Amino acid sequence: MITVNENFLKLRAGYLFPEIARRVAAFAAENPDARIIKLGIGDVTEPLVPAVIEAMHRAVDEMAQAETMRGYGPEQGYEFLRRAVVENDYRPRGVQVETDEIFISDGSKCDTGNIQEMFAVDNVVAVADPVYPVYVDTNVMAGRTGRADDRGRYEGIVYMPCTEDNQFVPALPGEPVDLIYLCYPNNPTGAVASHDQLRVWVEYAKANRAIILFDAAYEAFITEPDVPHSIYEVPGAREVAVEFRSFSKTAGFTGVRCALAVVPKGLKAWRKDGTAVDVHPLWSRRHCTKFNGASYLSQAAAAAVYTDAGREQVRRVIELYMDNARMMRQALQQAGYTVYGGVNAPYLWLRTPDGMASWDFFDRMLRRAHVVGTPGAGFGAAGEGYLRLSAFNHPERVREAMERMARL
Ligand SMILES: *Cc1c(COP(=O)(O)O)cnc(C)c1O
Repeated sequence: MITVNENFLKLRAGYLFPEIARRVAAFAAENPDARIIKLGIGDVTEPLVPAVIEAMHRAVDEMAQAETMRGYGPEQGYEFLRRAVVENDYRPRGVQVETDEIFISDGSKCDTGNIQEMFAVDNVVAVADPVYPVYVDTNVMAGRTGRADDRGRYEGIVYMPCTEDNQFVPALPGEPVDLIYLCYPNNPTGAVASHDQLRVWVEYAKANRAIILFDAAYEAFITEPDVPHSIYEVPGAREVAVEFRSFSKTAGFTGVRCALAVVPKGLKAWRKDGTAVDVHPLWSRRHCTKFNGASYLSQAAAAAVYTDAGREQVRRVIELYMDNARMMRQALQQAGYTVYGGVNAPYLWLRTPDGMASWDFFDRMLRRAHVVGTPGAGFGAAGEGYLRLSAFNHPERVREAMERMARL
């Protein structure tokens, strides 16, 4: 008899986005003339930039010729891309990362989901609340938790509330934790962590022999000068942190697929008896066993992001989204809302008026303004009373959405 991994049965049904879709579809059916504007999705809307498109065309042509076609590439990614990452993303910030510490993949969702496999099942996992659900669900599947309570919190996971009081950067946990997921700039709150705030976490990880998993998917959206783009800007972070980056939001690659993880060679985990084990060779072994490389086409496309033309074109697209975010922030503040984020991240975290529940405010926005957001409660218990708005949309639609929200 084939039995199932019962940990999968602990997972709460993928509730948030299906429920949003259900409510929007029901409203649209009753109100066929309503022009609904969606600011709920975390997906890009602008096309790929010309430098990327040209590189992809060239790569396709190479694949069409016996002399230049590429079969399996290195599992860790092509040297040309790993070198471009080091030379453009890290070296200019004074951050030491070697090319062989970079593992190219087809997405940060997979990387942030897979990384926990290397660590024992009895490690204690700490996540921010609200949180990107991938970090939690993959640990549930692996058996690191008990069941979920009625607020959706799994037994055994340490949830670290991110609130207005702590500027959406969690305080150190009151109990010992081993594996810490941090995401800055943050999805969903749009908050960033300062050097000082990250230093506290790096010191904690060193003192407690913990590992930080740092998701930097939105680093390219940072507009303020003093905000760290990489956790490795903090001294000592190489000893305790893995960093994830993705071309998905940076360069509009959500449909192309290319990302990377940095696993420094000094990073250690421990055996039960306290013997140190290098993490880098474990991840290399795991990556090479279970992954056969991102496609040559997507890696050639990603490398084009680092050319002079590519960099400039990508910068302009990010500016378009961040102009949206600025417009949204101003419009919402003028209309009397309390709003966070939108300065160094393409997300705004809106406090619901009069302490309304997230879903009630979602319904009010949908019914009265025909604007769709994402209820904060869907990202965790501490997200109750908030709504996430995404700046990924066309400027004229964003402007119209804000005019409607001001009249709400
Ligand atoms: C969008 C996003 C990613 C990127 O995922 P990909 O699989 O690379 O597309 C990673 N982390 C967070 C928090 C995100 O919102």
